[in-house]
Amino acid sequence: MAELPFATDAIAPRLLAWYSKQGRALPWRQTRDPYRIWLSEIMLQQTTVAAVIGYYQRFLENFPSVEHLAAAPQEAVIDLWAGLGYYARARNLHAAAKMLVEEFGGEFPQTVTELQQLPGVGRSTAGAISALAFERHAPILDGNVRRILCRLFALQQPPRSSAAEKQLWHWAELLTPVADVHDYTQAIMDLGATVCLPRKPLCEDCPLSELCQAREFGLEQQLPLKQKSKPVPIRHEAALLLEKQGKYLVRRRPASGLLGGLWEFPTVSIADGEMAEQKVRLLMSDFAVSGDLRPLGNITHIYSHFRLELQLFQLSIDDFPQVAEAENDWCAAEELSQLALHGAHKKALEKLQGSGE
Ligand code: SF4
Repeated sequence: MAELPFATDAIAPRLLAWYSKQGRALPWRQTRDPYRIWLSEIMLQQTTVAAVIGYYQRFLENFPSVEHLAAAPQEAVIDLWAGLGYYARARNLHAAAKMLVEEFGGEFPQTVTELQQLPGVGRSTAGAISALAFERHAPILDGNVRRILCRLFALQQPPRSSAAEKQLWHWAELLTPVADVHDYTQAIMDLGATVCLPRKPLCEDCPLSELCQAREFGLEQQLPLKQKSKPVPIRHEAALLLEKQGKYLVRRRPASGLLGGLWEFPTVSIADGEMAEQKVRLLMSDFAVSGDLRPLGNITHIYSHFRLELQLFQLSIDDFPQVAEAENDWCAAEELSQLALHGAHKKALEKLQGSGE
């Protein structure tokens, strides 16, 4: 491991002193209840505090304990998550609640190793729950902490490489104090969210600026180094926006599998050489409807493992035969915007609304 540029025990006291004056008062900070802390940590992954607060409160009103969450149908959990995005988190949350009730008797385990058995709980989230709920000496390495450490130690490697990962965890462990681990963990998260910002860090306001190596060498804007992005596969699909008396046909995807439990407009996949409109006409014949298709343009949406190119076609009809599948529904535009549509279909809805329909 690289030689350390400063005494690692110099960090925690500075952060704790700063946090006692500048720390944010957030709803999940008033509790040591692991259920509430876990819920907030999952919601905060890839999402801002401002977006999370309302969802956090609504979730607790609907599912006040892990037992309530475990007993709910998965659809109810996903529907309550609608709009927060990254829906795998909601599915994992529900699966983890079931595991907690069935295998842990409703009690949260306290160690990082045990917590990592829960679906959707990685090492950093496990560390956060262990430190915040149980005051255990457990480091975290979320996106904010990763950025701070890259700058503090002026790490000159892409931070997601395996060598950098190992190095960062080692530093995270060294900096995490044994005492006051709860406040230290909150403090370092707050520093990343409010001071050591991704684009323009506010070094003048930073309690670590005297020690920070990126600051010393004028590298705070360059670090962390950019990760080279890998090319992602592209999928082509076409969606039928089928309208009857101001309502649109939508259906829920199967609970398991890709984008499980989310809603979408009826969709067909388009293979190389196939024409989108022809495939949509086949879909129309499945529904036994006919009429003039109106092209509404294309949507591009990036999911975690692929890019989706989605072509949109609208069809208005007066009458519709009974849809056999159980998970179909007709929704007006205002109902659609409350629904847990997955990303590309959310954009399709915005396009539809922008087209004046
Ligand atoms: S001095 Fe600047 S770059 Fe260094 S940790 Fe503080 S805010 Fe981040």
